[in-house]
Amino acid sequence: MSEQVRVRFAPSPTGDLHLGNVRTALYNWIYARHTKGVFVLRVEDTDKERSTDTYCENLLDIMKWMGLNWDEGPRVGGPYAPYKQSERTSIYEEHLERLKAKNLVYPCYCTEEELELERKRQLGRGHMPKYGGKCKKLTVEERQKLDAAGNTSVLRFIVPPGEILVHDEVRGEVRFPDDQIGDFVLTRSDKSPTYNFTVVIDDALMKITHVIRGEDHLSNTPKQILIYEALGYKPPKFAHLSIIKGADGQKLSKRHGETSVESYKAKGYLPEAFLNYLALLGWAPKTGEILSLEQMAAEFDLTHVGKSGAIFDPVKLHWMGMQYMAKLPLEDLTRALLPYLFEANYCTREQARQKFDWIKGVVDTVRSSMGCYSDIIKETFYFFSDELSFEPAQTEEMKTQKPLLETYEKAFEAITDFNGENFMKAVKETGKSSGLKGKALYHPLRLAITGREDGPELAKVGPLLGKAEVLKRLAVWTKEEIPN
Ligand code: GLU
Repeated sequence: MSEQVRVRFAPSPTGDLHLGNVRTALYNWIYARHTKGVFVLRVEDTDKERSTDTYCENLLDIMKWMGLNWDEGPRVGGPYAPYKQSERTSIYEEHLERLKAKNLVYPCYCTEEELELERKRQLGRGHMPKYGGKCKKLTVEERQKLDAAGNTSVLRFIVPPGEILVHDEVRGEVRFPDDQIGDFVLTRSDKSPTYNFTVVIDDALMKITHVIRGEDHLSNTPKQILIYEALGYKPPKFAHLSIIKGADGQKLSKRHGETSVESYKAKGYLPEAFLNYLALLGWAPKTGEILSLEQMAAEFDLTHVGKSGAIFDPVKLHWMGMQYMAKLPLEDLTRALLPYLFEANYCTREQARQKFDWIKGVVDTVRSSMGCYSDIIKETFYFFSDELSFEPAQTEEMKTQKPLLETYEKAFEAITDFNGENFMKAVKETGKSSGLKGKALYHPLRLAITGREDGPELAKVGPLLGKAEVLKRLAVWTKEEIPN
């Protein structure tokens, strides 16, 4: 029987969760579910200056919001607890002692400035920068002297000679030629362990079978393999996911728009839509693009993950959001949107209570253009306010449309039951008497009553606004004083 798959998501709580990390979390989650394995959440908070409890709690909350529940980790515990690195100090110390006993580490006293100078020199000669090993040569006496003089030191791991081969589940064999990796730091000058050290110990002790993470960590992998070997642990399988890029081919950053999951939550994206979109960044499911988490879990496999970089496209994300919005029952959707309407001062709670059915009608009319809840604000402004604003060119156009708008006015005035059918009858009559059709007929009406160039069907908009309001908005253009 093959061993049970154990994967982990290991974020550092140093900021809001980035889209790239969410995709990593998602692929780990669906792989665990696909294989009936275990999904571990481990908080990598050894960087004391940048990690905060608030970021950590937010991270756990947002994972819950997305529905990426973890089988082991903070809040739920598990057989390999604790799952926060800041609580595992003694475990790292113990492992460090093992490496010390094998003479695989040495203290390095080089200052930042010295290291920087070395780097620059190497780059200047066209070499890959790596630590040259100056402090490895220090004698015991020299070290004692440096310590006694109050010099701080870090501990470096002695990299053995030889090429390192990484078998990557996504990228195939990746070779790191001999001499590319210098002795690297295991503990900082404040004695805190570094990422490359803690990640190995935790992955080994937590019995992780597959490390699925971003390609930006590929260069760390040979270092980690060396530590596995030095400690006598079996390395897991590795799968490095290609970096998510912006439309310009550069690594996704703030320049390309919002990059944190929090910002998409705040916009009112449904977590299912958000994850569904992210799932497609690196994987092309065979059964189509719209998949629930369960469907993803059923279909996903690491062998299907692509090597090439995926492009983040906010327009496609919005489209995905629309597919999910469309599935919500109208009543639920309307209730979910009320806080956004209150926030925008479109209506009060009391008004929402009194006019709930009308609001439902408004929502139904615009819902097909909505990719996230907050879209309701831009989509429905004209239903809640008659303070429409027009560009100078639009005002000019409307001035020339006065005769047409007067015809509309008369046709609408004659309607007793202002429903969609009668409204459209009046529009058609206006078309006949004015000799206009298509855009020439509809556009001035739409602009006059909604202030917008496009939008939902007029047959729905007109009755929702109501006869009095439609006439009032037309009168703005048909009476003498036309706004500038
Ligand atoms: N804490 C690391 C990060 O957030 C984890 C990398 C890994 O998965 O090994 O980038």
